[in-house]
Amino acid sequence: MDTDLGEIRGHVIVVMAPMGSGKGTIVRHALAKYPELRQTVSGTSRAMRPGEVDGQHYHFLSNAEFEQKIAAGEFLEWAEFAGNKYGTLKSEILPRILECDVVIVEIELQGVEQLLDLLPREHLTIVYIEAGGWEVLRARAESRAPMSAAELAARHERYLIEVQAKPIADIVIDNTGDINAATAAFDQVIEEAYKKCK
Ligand code: 5GP
Repeated sequence: MDTDLGEIRGHVIVVMAPMGSGKGTIVRHALAKYPELRQTVSGTSRAMRPGEVDGQHYHFLSNAEFEQKIAAGEFLEWAEFAGNKYGTLKSEILPRILECDVVIVEIELQGVEQLLDLLPREHLTIVYIEAGGWEVLRARAESRAPMSAAELAARHERYLIEVQAKPIADIVIDNTGDINAATAAFDQVIEEAYKKCK
């Protein structure tokens, strides 16, 4: 199909999940298994966290740099989340999906809604990872590291936003118990996407 972006041939897999749901593990497993699979590196105006690497976890931008890129039309989609801007750079995604490539994007709901308007529906699969409700995620997070009441409240607020993505998912992956079953289910999504492309 032709859009003003050019002819989209590849496939975009959007992965959405609440923080602490095992999304990272599932995505890393697929990236290791499929050598041609790529994940886009988003631009963000948020501060770098310890352990993050510029150009690897995000392209870290100042607010002014982010605004310049918006004005220059460099983002395919962008949104504000928890007081910071995040966006998918066209340079990260378009060269790949104009070829027969499969790309993973981890973005929040407002960004997904923009992609739904921009990309042909059959070239987009929305995956949500279900890891249990708030009580399960809270207990898991607290068992890893002690959290202040303020951190816990912020996490809960974020959970309530992230869980809103579930109804728009094409596929819900169950990660409430067996991580191997969850990675296998995600691999299946990747393989289906490659099949559509070839
Ligand atoms: P974090 O600050 O924890 O890395 O990410 C916060 C939220 O921003 C997550 O829900 C993540 O999926 C989302 N996000 C990351 N990159 C992008 C992007 O390029 N576009 C949009 N719309 N959201 C993004």
